Amino acid sequence: MEAEARKVAITADAVVSAIPSNDFTCAEPAGLPDLQFIKTSVAISDVAAELGLEVIGNMIRCWRAENHEDGDRTPSVGIDRKRNRVRCFVCDPRAYSAIDLVQKVLGVDVRKAAGWIAARFTVPTIPKGRHLRKHDEFRSISRAGLGGPLEMMIRSGLWAHLTPSEKAILAVLCELTDQGTNPLQLSYRGISRFSGVSSDSTIARVLKRFRTMRILKIYGGIAGDGLRACNSYELTLDDPELQRNMAEIYESERHEINAEREWRKEQRKLRQAEVRSRKPPTNDGERQDMRTVQSGATA
Ligand SMILES: [Zn+2]
Repeated sequence: MEAEARKVAITADAVVSAIPSNDFTCAEPAGLPDLQFIKTSVAISDVAAELGLEVIGNMIRCWRAENHEDGDRTPSVGIDRKRNRVRCFVCDPRAYSAIDLVQKVLGVDVRKAAGWIAARFTVPTIPKGRHLRKHDEFRSISRAGLGGPLEMMIRSGLWAHLTPSEKAILAVLCELTDQGTNPLQLSYRGISRFSGVSSDSTIARVLKRFRTMRILKIYGGIAGDGLRACNSYELTLDDPELQRNMAEIYESERHEINAEREWRKEQRKLRQAEVRSRKPPTNDGERQDMRTVQSGATA
């Protein structure tokens, strides 16, 4: 009941008004909230709790109860503490960062989401001189098509979300599959030998995740104790759901980068306005003013 009331109380408008207006003005001259820090170092379970979501162990009750038959009585949103991400097994095509989560739950943009988090958790700012991330041409997915089978995955940013084991196994499967012909038959021992991933349970977990992400189809099944079974794998890198997922990752990163750039532009304007408002009309006056400031004397 209480959680319910809290949830209702937190609407996008409430968020904006809940942040004291000087939170922004205090924080901004020093720099921008470090979005990368938020994504890696602000515990997403704490952010979920702060949003009024019900966190139960490593699970969260889905905030989109309408998508769940029982109103998500048995929570469906898993918390991946290592990657600091969450994902509902029913609703979400991909795992969300803390910034994504706040955006989704409150229906706000990157900037408001980051501001909301920075107002509640300790978040360092990006120093004034540091270069911001660039979403350059090189990463553009519209220019994809000349590279290997993993090119889209790399350009979209999905590759960067994979664990080292996932990258190793996917690279092996891609290289050993003949283009467009039969599914690749490979034992766990083979996968282990080629990828360097020695644990069977890690291999099983990676393959299951790939199947959920629609990266591949598995024939022969991994049911029962079939860990050592010699399965066949068919890569499905052009699966529409996988493609949508990649496009969404690409877009969300683009939004974050745009927000950072916008933020910085506004700060620069603010600083310029501040300088201008202090500046007397003539150059002589300015020098005079500087001296006054430096010596601390009054004119
Ligand atoms: Zn859900």
